[in-house]
Amino acid sequence: MADVRVRFAPSPTGDLHVGGARTALFNWLFAKNRKGKFILRIEDTDEVRSTEASVKVILDAMKWLQLDWDEGQPDNENLKYSPYYQMERKEKGIYQKYADELVTRKLAYYCYCDPEEVDDIRKKSQINKLPPKYDGRCRYSTLEQREQQKKRGKVPVVRFRMPDTGIVVLNDIIRGKIKFDNFLLDDFVIIKANGTPTYNFACVVDDYLMKITHVLRGDDHISNTPKQMHIYNALNWEMPEFAHLAMILGSDGSRLSKRHGHISVLEYRKEGYLQEALINYLVLLGWSTEDSQQIFTMEDMKQKFSIERCGASPSVFDSAKLLWLNGEKIRSKSSDQIYELFIDWINYTGNDKLIKNWDTELLKKAIFLERDKIKLLKNIPSLVDFFFTKDIDYEEDAIRTVLLSEKSKNVAELVLTKSLIGLSNHQDFSAVSLEKYARHFAMDKNIKTSQVFHPIRVAISGRKQGPSLFHMMEIMGREEVVRRINVTINKFFT
Ligand code: GLU
Repeated sequence: MADVRVRFAPSPTGDLHVGGARTALFNWLFAKNRKGKFILRIEDTDEVRSTEASVKVILDAMKWLQLDWDEGQPDNENLKYSPYYQMERKEKGIYQKYADELVTRKLAYYCYCDPEEVDDIRKKSQINKLPPKYDGRCRYSTLEQREQQKKRGKVPVVRFRMPDTGIVVLNDIIRGKIKFDNFLLDDFVIIKANGTPTYNFACVVDDYLMKITHVLRGDDHISNTPKQMHIYNALNWEMPEFAHLAMILGSDGSRLSKRHGHISVLEYRKEGYLQEALINYLVLLGWSTEDSQQIFTMEDMKQKFSIERCGASPSVFDSAKLLWLNGEKIRSKSSDQIYELFIDWINYTGNDKLIKNWDTELLKKAIFLERDKIKLLKNIPSLVDFFFTKDIDYEEDAIRTVLLSEKSKNVAELVLTKSLIGLSNHQDFSAVSLEKYARHFAMDKNIKTSQVFHPIRVAISGRKQGPSLFHMMEIMGREEVVRRINVTINKFFT
């Protein structure tokens, strides 16, 4: 069997969203699993909606997802079938050549009908309970008629001549056999009046010339596939195999879209999702292992992926699960790794002001201490910032309930003034030893441990909640803990 060659062929008309990223990932995984090639082709034939900016965001998103391509521009040496941008291919006359061949063989024809006329024809067919398609009236136009139209300054489109009867059978790897009745299919345009090929034509020509063996794409393209199959047949080309990936639904059961708060890949990056969490989540949208494994590394996925285990029923996009997975991935990392990911996020989002003058070693320790609470990288600054601010930012509620309430203020004052001295002289500033000290202190003064722990926590962090108190003290160090307690006493108790 020929080496596997698959492609991801985005139309640069917007950002890369979850659906597109899933298609790219499945193609990439299939190529990796089968030791084949993954090709990136830009389908920019929609001149109105395609933009350079969109090409850039798609490529940036692919790079962040680490879905590297073996062939395709830019960033690749291997340009065997170049160019990989359809508008550049059009300039080389690649599509026109095959359209001309089809016209010569009477499998395609010039059509001079105006778009309004075609619309009218479609509407009338619908009224007569016929498929809403162009009726093929230009199929039989004579050379003379065409010359006349030309003289009137009209420019034709090229339409494919669809067989009127018979069926075409798609043998989809995921869905099995699907039959399409030719009678329902339109004589669709293959070359527009300005010479640009349409998607259904350019896609076939390129898939053939680029020796694509498998077409894996979203099931929104199923209705295009019979048209494309007819082009392959007309040109006597061997077809690739097709696999249409099941739709992704939003929580309300309709196709996933912006309405569901569905955001682009790079927005997930901005929010602080890890590349590996998003990839791991995407792979579960329509594919599963026999034992329903949930957590994968990239390497793991590459080894286990197969199209045969892709399901035909839609999957629902579950944002809560993605968030959970992100937290899991973060938790599984070392402090150095989380730190690196965080710095990458800071640089990407341009948030470096947030961590200005923060000590790296302390930051690593603080992040590690708080790792169970981090769901998104963007949560980190607000979880650890109190370690780095010289002026303690006291929560109002903490002052009111822990330091200054009628019930607690005397004990709080006693705890802080005594522990200021005690901690200044406490040699072993490890969490274990500090906890012993605090418990002993409570026993000695005959008060509850919480009456010791809470004021100290507020005094050094300004907050009622936070990481484990004694670990927090350990990483802050004696000097800073004592300084903070002192500042708090001066502020509230003198
Ligand atoms: N350019 C098409 C799209 O972005 C590609 C469809 C295909 O894979 O054939 O939807």
